[in-house]
Amino acid sequence: MGRIQFYERPRTLDEAVRILAEKKGKACVLAGGTSLALRQPPGVDTFVDISRLGLVGMEDRGDSIAIKACTTVAELASLPQSYQLYGGVLARAAMAVASTPLRNQITVGGNLVQVMPWSDLPGVMLALNGQIVIQGTTSRIVPLKDFYATHPRNSLSAGDLVTEVRIPKPIGRVQSSFVKVGKTVFDYAALTVTAVAWLSGNQVRECSVALGAVRPLPMRVPQAEEEIAGRIPTRDDVIRAAARAAGAVEPSQDYRYSKDYRRQLIKVWVKRCLHEACS
Ligand SMILES: Cc1cc2nc3c(=O)[nH]c(=O)nc-3n(C[C@H](O)[C@H](O)[C@H](O)COP(=O)(O)OP(=O)(O)OC[C@H]3O[C@@H](n4cnc5c(N)ncnc54)[C@H](O)[C@@H]3O)c2cc1C
Repeated sequence: MGRIQFYERPRTLDEAVRILAEKKGKACVLAGGTSLALRQPPGVDTFVDISRLGLVGMEDRGDSIAIKACTTVAELASLPQSYQLYGGVLARAAMAVASTPLRNQITVGGNLVQVMPWSDLPGVMLALNGQIVIQGTTSRIVPLKDFYATHPRNSLSAGDLVTEVRIPKPIGRVQSSFVKVGKTVFDYAALTVTAVAWLSGNQVRECSVALGAVRPLPMRVPQAEEEIAGRIPTRDDVIRAAARAAGAVEPSQDYRYSKDYRRQLIKVWVKRCLHEACS
């Protein structure tokens, strides 16, 4: 375990990026601290506290909404836009994270970067076609489907700081559904499902289905999406889509859930979420 000797609390983004770059991998960003309190990255001797950079709340970016990285999950759950956009799926997912004390501490940026199999926000942001904004030695915007193609640590270098996640504004009528399946309300997820349907009349123009907690990283399930997109989905279409989702994934196995149990959960909950999002 690393031994922290220095604590920096920069006042500007430039200062934060400069400290991270100068420390060449010996400094790491401190956001909500819920993960860093348990485990510090090896070789790190400095925390760079990013809580004073003004990275809190939501902002309009024209064709997208930016959720700033230091917004806590509790703040995300209470922002009016979280209820208004995409049928309130952001608020539903935020309220599903851990417990009230933890939601007051965990940040959106920390939840997206320190992705654990059970993390609740990555799957939702992936289903909403989110993009992550990174400031550092090179500033860039990375679609979450690329960010989660491998572990995010492969996309971030030593001087990089995630400043916000951008969610495209919904075009036309959009309906959604989110579920977190666990043994209790505070439990880590056994499965999360997000389903989003972009509608023209009764027809689903576009559909996204994202799963969390069944693999180390969140994933989209194009096999299920293509059963629904371009149709006025019937009950049989939804059942077929859910079966294809369950067949397409090789779920992780751990001491709590077998592969077969998780696969059955996918079949049941993708069906229910698609039904809610499409009707
Ligand atoms: C008991 C417990 C239960 C939990 N249950 C759940 C749950 O049910 N669902 C869920 O989704 N989460 C849950 N979590 C939270 C999750 O596991 C992580 O601890 C949390 O998401 C980390 O966020 P943070 O803001 O506290 O990040 P920190 O602990 O501050 O940082 C985590 C890592 O991400 C990096 N990082 C953070 N922010 C940025 C940034 N803006 N740019 C670049 N790098 C950054 C840090 O350098 C560090 O390496 C739980 C945590 C605990 C302790």
